[in-house]
Amino acid sequence: MKSILLLASVLQLTLSFDDGLAEHATVVMPLLDSLEMKGTFYLIPRNIDRRKEIRGAAACTWEQAALLYRHGHTIGNHTFSHRDLTKMSLAEAAQEIRKGDSAVFARLGVHPTALALPYNHKSDSLLALCDSLGLSPRLKQFSFGGKNVPSVQAFRTWLDKQVSRGGDITTMTHGITIGYDAFRTDTLTQQSPLDIFRDCLILIKQYEKEGKLVLK
Ligand SMILES: [Zn+2]
Repeated sequence: MKSILLLASVLQLTLSFDDGLAEHATVVMPLLDSLEMKGTFYLIPRNIDRRKEIRGAAACTWEQAALLYRHGHTIGNHTFSHRDLTKMSLAEAAQEIRKGDSAVFARLGVHPTALALPYNHKSDSLLALCDSLGLSPRLKQFSFGGKNVPSVQAFRTWLDKQVSRGGDITTMTHGITIGYDAFRTDTLTQQSPLDIFRDCLILIKQYEKEGKLVLK
């Protein structure tokens, strides 16, 4: 009986964007805003402070992060410096999380309740720590970008499957046109990375309007 109820639940979809990249403010935000959609943006304060670049993908500025927040998007904590929390003591892990929180609060005036663990690495003790800090880390994510989403059609196939299953899922995206798992040109349709990303968002919006999913 329980499984039948689960199958019947409407898909709850959260769009999340990791590592606080400049493209999140320059590319993602305008698209989300124009479609009246919201996203969760997980910041790494140390990278923003240093304007760090990862494979060509620059970190955003604090001004850009503030803009994301002001536009009504959710700001998440991705820890202060993105070290693997499973490879340090719990006290150090707590410090990484708290430092991330303080840095975001100092700049944006918000204490993020959303947390994404670096590399999505977790352990039972780490999850207990998050719980004690009143944080619920992202536990299940779909890598929305790169070779995982070679075309809009491939994304539609994935999304249809999620809709039929119901439940909760969070997409995880890094760079859109630049970075290690950025979208790639569709070899069949010649759609650009940006076009693929945009059309996937339009599809999500369409499904939301049709009541096939709820965007969280
Ligand atoms: Zn990350």
